[in-house]
Amino acid sequence: LRFYKNAPNTLRALLEPGRGFGAQEFLVYQDQRLSFDDFFARADALAYYLVSELNINKGDRIAIAMRNNPEWMIAYYAIVSIGAVVVPLNSWGSADELAYGLGDSMAKWVVCDQARYDTITAAPSELACQVILVGATGSAEYLSFDAIINAHLGAAMPEVDCESDDIAQIMYTSGTTGRPKGAVSSHGNICQAIFSFEFHGTCSAMANPEAIRKMFSTGFAPCTLLSVPLFHVSGCYAAFLLNLRAGRKTVMMYKWSAEDALALIEKERVTIFSAVPSMVVDLLRHPKFKTTDTTSLFSIGGGGTACPPSFKSTISENLGDAYVGTGYGMTETNAICASCTGDAYFYKPKSAGTLSPLVEWQTRSPEGGILAKGEVGEIWLKSACNITAYWNKPEATAENFAHGWMATGDIGYLDDENFVFLVDRAKDLIIRGGENIYPAEIEACLSQHAAIADSAIIAVPDERLGETPGAVIRIRDGATLSETEVKDYLADKLAAFKQPSHVWFVEEELPRNATGKVLKRDLVQRFVK
Ligand code: ATP
Ligand code: MG
Repeated sequence: LRFYKNAPNTLRALLEPGRGFGAQEFLVYQDQRLSFDDFFARADALAYYLVSELNINKGDRIAIAMRNNPEWMIAYYAIVSIGAVVVPLNSWGSADELAYGLGDSMAKWVVCDQARYDTITAAPSELACQVILVGATGSAEYLSFDAIINAHLGAAMPEVDCESDDIAQIMYTSGTTGRPKGAVSSHGNICQAIFSFEFHGTCSAMANPEAIRKMFSTGFAPCTLLSVPLFHVSGCYAAFLLNLRAGRKTVMMYKWSAEDALALIEKERVTIFSAVPSMVVDLLRHPKFKTTDTTSLFSIGGGGTACPPSFKSTISENLGDAYVGTGYGMTETNAICASCTGDAYFYKPKSAGTLSPLVEWQTRSPEGGILAKGEVGEIWLKSACNITAYWNKPEATAENFAHGWMATGDIGYLDDENFVFLVDRAKDLIIRGGENIYPAEIEACLSQHAAIADSAIIAVPDERLGETPGAVIRIRDGATLSETEVKDYLADKLAAFKQPSHVWFVEEELPRNATGKVLKRDLVQRFVK
């Protein structure tokens, strides 16, 4: 296994350099402004309390159930620094989903905000863990986060033994294909991932010398707009951990709004904006974009899900001078697999980037054979950043991990210059009378129709053919479109066997999860079952 020898072994050591930035501004959130000193003082106070008053031991799980807020970051840092295991839960989740995360991880404590507390306690099942509530005064049912901090400011971070192989985090996958799975990362996995960001470069990390030159030429201090949730790898690592370590300012949003984002970019002189592709498009298409001062913005990127083919040209038309990038990774690889910025991004517009230096790649056939470069198959990865097990799921672990390799569930190929191309997810593959159909290809085609705002292809059971593709389409505001027009449009663009057998139109946004992916199982439920 390749690894960065100079990377620290624990998250505490990894983030230690952040302390050196003292009174410099670290976090801007609504009307709060926290310096690096403010951040570490609060985290040290909480860590001290967790160890000395709550007797938290190494390996104990502490969950976080909150929308983006400063306390999320403070809790995360305090938990991992004392050798406990942090369990970030999806705060978009229902009562049932939150209860699943708490139960599955067997968390002893949960740090939560009022809204999540209300959701969790409204569920009929009894809460098995204890609660630290943010912004409360404390009661018999819970401890107050604020009171803990206020009473212990000035306490020193306790010393605990912690090593590279110790578990640092159980982070849940997005749940696009089923119940979210708890990805178990060691301190070493995450440290290697953060170094991979720094050395291979993405929009957020700027390893590319040309990007760094451009950053200095803007004259603005590095500043990231954090607009995605902290409970997934992209927000947690690419904004929070990287910035805490590197002394960069983070401007954090509670929830996504293109209008608010534009106002923040202008006011805080944001230099880096990296999000899921649909958010980048929202920003560029917003009526206020043209009248907003975005001159500070030099780096912009979107990854984590397939980009519409027009994505790259939309960015370069609107932000000609900005440095653009994208990436491919997953919760199980701690975000790391492939990425590219700048010239490499435009060199192969359909690629998700080049392999990160630590990552070894195999493309496998359905029979398990290893395929040559350029051949399409399931992607297997080996890397020091990868997790080696799912929490509490021995079967899924046995199925997806073997001999240091991990199945991604994604279909794609590597070209002869080590650029990664993604075709689709294995689970989304539609087999129509023995012919393979990748929904992503049809969706990319539909996205180029002027009247189509969004689309998703789902499998429709068919007695004779097994399954056929069905199209769910959202029409652009003010446009009109009929089923016949859709079918005529696709007729000369795709082979006959790939033509959708059904077309459904929806008025509202397609259901997406927090990482920007369409929840196809919800669409299947609605239209097919
Ligand atoms: P679950 O595993 O619970 O079904 P999920 O796979 O969506 O959910 P994540 O780990 O957040 O959970 O997402 C990783 C997946 O996102 C990848 O396996 C891949 O399918 C998709 N993905 C990531 N980056 C890209 C990209 N650049 N282009 C296309 N798809 C991508
Ligand atoms: Mg997955």
